[in-house]
Amino acid sequence: MIINGKNLKLEDTLTADICIIGAGAAGLTLAHKFHQTSLSVLLLESGGLKNDPVTQSFADGTTDGEIYPFIQSRFRCLGGSTSRWSGMCIPLDEGDFEPKSWLPHSGWPFSLSELLPYYQQAQQIFGLPETIPSLNEKSLFHQSPFETKILKYSNPLDLGKKYKQEIIESQNISLIIHSNVIELIPNQEGRLIESLKVQGSDGNRFIVKARTVILATGGMENARLLLASNSYFPQGLGNHHDLVGRFFMEHYFKVTGILPIKQQQKLTTSFTHRYPLGNTYAQDVFGFNDDFREREQLLNMHLRICRYNLLEENPAVVTGKKLAQQLSQGDFSQISQDLPTLWQNGLTGIPRYLWWHFYNKFNPSAHFDQIRFVGLVEQEPDFHNRITLSSKCDRLGQPLVNLSLNFSEQMWESVERSMFHLGKILSERGFGQLEYNGDRIQHLTSYDKVGYHHMGTTRMHPNPRQGVVDANCRVHDLDNLYMAGSSIFPTGGAANPTFTIVALALRLAEHLLKIN
Ligand SMILES: Cc1cc2nc3c(=O)[nH]c(=O)nc-3n(C[C@H](O)[C@H](O)[C@H](O)COP(=O)(O)OP(=O)(O)OC[C@H]3O[C@@H](n4cnc5c(N)ncnc54)[C@H](O)[C@@H]3O)c2cc1C
Repeated sequence: MIINGKNLKLEDTLTADICIIGAGAAGLTLAHKFHQTSLSVLLLESGGLKNDPVTQSFADGTTDGEIYPFIQSRFRCLGGSTSRWSGMCIPLDEGDFEPKSWLPHSGWPFSLSELLPYYQQAQQIFGLPETIPSLNEKSLFHQSPFETKILKYSNPLDLGKKYKQEIIESQNISLIIHSNVIELIPNQEGRLIESLKVQGSDGNRFIVKARTVILATGGMENARLLLASNSYFPQGLGNHHDLVGRFFMEHYFKVTGILPIKQQQKLTTSFTHRYPLGNTYAQDVFGFNDDFREREQLLNMHLRICRYNLLEENPAVVTGKKLAQQLSQGDFSQISQDLPTLWQNGLTGIPRYLWWHFYNKFNPSAHFDQIRFVGLVEQEPDFHNRITLSSKCDRLGQPLVNLSLNFSEQMWESVERSMFHLGKILSERGFGQLEYNGDRIQHLTSYDKVGYHHMGTTRMHPNPRQGVVDANCRVHDLDNLYMAGSSIFPTGGAANPTFTIVALALRLAEHLLKIN
């Protein structure tokens, strides 16, 4: 059943066995697993069935440094950010779970094998086929020290659309839309969440009580809500050791190299183009294998391969791409500066580039003589990268998130060394010279962007002094509060996070079904 939270009043106290806050990838997966069980479940969602600008403005934020695209990087409505995501699904690598002596704060409390059965189940949630396409064993990028990985695309994309009918028909799940949880209220000892304060988007308030509460509001909001629940404990909930909001991690997309390709070195199009797989699509990416990364002390990086043409270096194309990206992030500051470049160079450069781009996109067999590598780069866990509460508030009077984020020397040095090794191996195997630093690569920064992957702010660690949740995703010191989503990742590897978010939510659902 679906209820509109705007119609609820202060005298309305809703009760349930389990309350899930947030109906995105994690929250919907949990609700789906509890459907048709004996548990009564309330699923509280800030947005409506579709995204609206007022509710979306609650996702804004401030930064201590560079501008961050808060509004473009998460979405408030049924389905959460899966209402706008790209659908790329890939598991973490085995090495991402291992503690590394050279990487402080690395390692999960369990290994990849713990997640494998849930990755298997997650395939069903995303409509991914069981069958694995046979990789081209002869491919250069499938021979040690490389490893080819398969990026599969979710079908359907929007989990809100996928599960809406199931929720409408469910006897035990109630979705309350337009209900913003503004505070979790603990009991006096601070051991249990007793109730939740909820505010409808029209300002009306009501209370929710549940035996078990699961916070699934996304990698930034999970921390925001714990910090903002500060009426009884000024530091917020689960924050005895000043860890909530800390260790924020992002992925960074970056052009990391350009390589000339000779006629006889045609790469398989499975790297440059999507190919059909069951009812969906897949694409190959590659990286260094775990052994090599461990030996060389490299952070993880998955490399995608795109065809490249000198037309992409035309100043107008570079400026146009940069400007388009800034505008999509709500940054209008560069328009007057960039317009002259666009005007002087754009008239011939941009149409020719667009023609080349679309011709190659739809013609996998078209001739090409250069490729560029785009890295999805791992950021190391860093205590100083963090979410705090902003001094600015949203329209409900709730403090927005404030982000302190820096990409470290260690990260950039790891990218450069990875590309050095790639270049060396490519030249040993008869390829041309890989360009991976210098002006030409710097010139291509218009491709650089953050991944919209918000991780680490309520990290998992068995020791309460080093993590906010335990291995069962329960907040240390709170008996009935659990976290779902990428805020619990201790490290983020180089995998798009949602496949792992859903696998972890399936694991959490199984745990809660056992103990309830
Ligand atoms: C443009 C874009 C492209 C992306 N592409 C990919 C991709 O290809 N692959 C990938 O793995 N990831 C991708 N991501 C990231 C992916 O969308 C997220 O990792 C994933 O959706 C996170 O799931 P979640 O359930 O933790 O959070 P969300 O999906 O963001 O859901 C959180 C929900 O909680 C609700 N909520 C928030 N605060 C409150 C509150 N106080 N009270 C009640 N409800 C609340 C929100 O409205 C939202 O519905 C992309 C993201 C974007 C924006």
